[in-house]
Amino acid sequence: MEYNIVVALFIFLFGVSVGSFLNVLIYRIPNEISIISPPSACPNCKNRLKWYHNIPIISWIFLGGKCAFCEQKISIKYPLVELINGIIWVLLYFKIGLVWYFPFVALSFSMLLALSIIDLKYYAVPDSLNYAALIFALINPNFLISLRDAAIGALGLFLVGYFTSKLAKKDALGEADIIVAATMAALLGFPAFFIAMFISAIVAIIPSLFAKDTMIPFVPFLSIGTLITYLYKEELLNLLEVLLYGQS
Ligand SMILES: [Zn+2]
Repeated sequence: MEYNIVVALFIFLFGVSVGSFLNVLIYRIPNEISIISPPSACPNCKNRLKWYHNIPIISWIFLGGKCAFCEQKISIKYPLVELINGIIWVLLYFKIGLVWYFPFVALSFSMLLALSIIDLKYYAVPDSLNYAALIFALINPNFLISLRDAAIGALGLFLVGYFTSKLAKKDALGEADIIVAATMAALLGFPAFFIAMFISAIVAIIPSLFAKDTMIPFVPFLSIGTLITYLYKEELLNLLEVLLYGQS
């Protein structure tokens, strides 16, 4: 894939700025605060932030990770979300180039990032962001194929959840997981969807080894599996073919 380093830099800065907005969503949606007003303020001293306190990553570094007014520590999670989102946007640009639907794919992954952090922090998956991720995933030249795949992915996971909960006599999968599955299927198609599910399950084993009996949020693993599969789709599909049918 040919790419332009100046374009990549702009996309990084754009992704970082969107990451800054993701922090607003991550903090406000689970706490049921409007995402438009009031403007950003320090959660501790309630002083409104000036524009130069609000520059993604840079402000956090220059303020030494503290509030400019009350010196309350500001978590490194804020600049990290911004940085991670910037990196995701650049990786997606390297993968698909500056196609017209690039912003929608990038925003879909940004929504998955926000959902992952909210799931880690609150064990919750807000519907608003979940449906936004799905809608962004559907906006591409193959809209009808993506829509069909989303429906199959959702139905598939619903059936898995239905029979698992019948067998285990408890709810195995939530409605939120089904929507995430639809987003994954819309972004990846089949059979790449199954590769992403497999990678997610493998990655999810790591924390479950350390944290027994505690709730493990699954959206972060689904999101990591989806991103890896999206970025290395052809390589992974080739690998799958070799594994199933041997060297061709
Ligand atoms: Zn403060």
